[in-house]
Amino acid sequence: MTIATTRTQAPVVVDQSKCIAEKGCTVCVDVCPLDVLAIDMVSNKAFMKFDECWYCMPCEQDCPTGAVQVNIPYLLR
Ligand code: SF4
Ligand code: SF4
Repeated sequence: MTIATTRTQAPVVVDQSKCIAEKGCTVCVDVCPLDVLAIDMVSNKAFMKFDECWYCMPCEQDCPTGAVQVNIPYLLR
């Protein structure tokens, strides 16, 4: 059996080139009701820390630079 050791896909993806967390933005982290988004202390960019999501969308809608993309699973659409 092959065991995956790295994450290949998370439902919420942050475009690192658009994220301005290094300038103090924490909007997506603040609006997420599940607290699954965080700012990476090394890269200073937002990322999905825990792979859980309600697909409620404020992280994507409220990001000032459009860096957040929520990929809703096909079966939930
Ligand atoms: S809201 Fe957008 S710009 Fe702000 S930390 Fe989140 S991903 Fe980065
Ligand atoms: S869609 Fe909702 S639950 Fe999922 S990461 Fe964004 S704010 Fe959090």
